[in-house]
Amino acid sequence: MVDLQKQYLKIKEDIDNAIGEVLQSAKFIRGEFVQKFEQQLAEYLGVKHVIACANGTDALQISLMALDLKPHDEIICPSFSFISGAEMAGLLNLRPVFVDVDYNNFNATVENIMQAISVKTKVIMPVHLFGQGVNMEEIMKLAEQYHLTVIEDNAQSLGANYYFSDGKKKKLGTIGDIGCTSFFPTKNLGCYGDGGAIFTDNDKLADKIRLISNHGMKEKYKNEVIGINSRLDGIQAVVLSEKLKHIDDYIKARQDAAEFYCAGLQSLSKHILLPEKVEYSDHTFHQFTIKVLDGKRDELRAYLAEKQIPTAVYYPYPLHSQEAFVKIERQANAMDVTEKLCTEVLSLPMHTELSIEQQIYIVETIKEFFK
Ligand SMILES: *Cc1c(COP(=O)(O)O)cnc(C)c1O
Repeated sequence: MVDLQKQYLKIKEDIDNAIGEVLQSAKFIRGEFVQKFEQQLAEYLGVKHVIACANGTDALQISLMALDLKPHDEIICPSFSFISGAEMAGLLNLRPVFVDVDYNNFNATVENIMQAISVKTKVIMPVHLFGQGVNMEEIMKLAEQYHLTVIEDNAQSLGANYYFSDGKKKKLGTIGDIGCTSFFPTKNLGCYGDGGAIFTDNDKLADKIRLISNHGMKEKYKNEVIGINSRLDGIQAVVLSEKLKHIDDYIKARQDAAEFYCAGLQSLSKHILLPEKVEYSDHTFHQFTIKVLDGKRDELRAYLAEKQIPTAVYYPYPLHSQEAFVKIERQANAMDVTEKLCTEVLSLPMHTELSIEQQIYIVETIKEFFK
């Protein structure tokens, strides 16, 4: 699905030197390398504060912890997504409220979110799935109207611009009150282990987030609140600093590969639906996800596997039907779209190092299947 080795070899010298510097200095946890990366990412995103942490799931947990919520307060999140946000809500004794998504772009719709708001709602936690943004402009209006906090899960769409109706643009993850991301190796900006970060323009929230991510202490051994231990290490920080220089090229490579797939697969529109772009957001193609019609998804997947083409199903089960949530969730809408998507979606190989030859082979093999 992803070729991380080839990507590393292209920047091997820079990465090896940077890691060597960390080893020499022995500044392994937090410290100057992490600070430097936080500043660089803040500059790239155009946001005031970036707080690095251990992974994307922690970023979401810390963000929720920073909001002074009460047990059973409601957190609105999409059912068609990765589990982290809803899981952390459950862990903190909050209630995930699941909403259905849009069939064409996979993201939670403003209508569904609006329907989900109750007197207990405190947070909207949209996920920018597969590389493109949800309709943040409308979601922020809702949040203002109902006094809700917005935490963007931007683990899959780091680097994408969001375009407002007045012509202004902002990076995804910097529009809500808090944005979270993951540096898992396969993400748009991936390190060589685990990593994550939280963004905000709010000074007070930034202080609180830093406090919570470090055992609730500002001053050493003086614990002000219950926190957690979630930190990025120096080696991951320098890897990220090096790779941040290339993030726009990496995104461009994904977009080019997506364009190639679209051109090649266009003629199969009776059998598969290609990813659709929305006008208000870039698409960074973290995943290239097609919908396979007529119940043929698993058959196509097996056929491609036979021909040595890896694929993935993101996501095979709706979150609202997971056993883990049965006792704590609320379902705000009928979940027809999510349920249908779980049976139709198929993600094709997508990364920065896809060659034209590989893509031609993938496209031709898919065509062969439908012949
Ligand atoms: C990857 C991912 C996460 C979690 O990130 P980790 O660093 O693996 O904890 C959260 N949400 C979404 C949408 C993701 O894709």
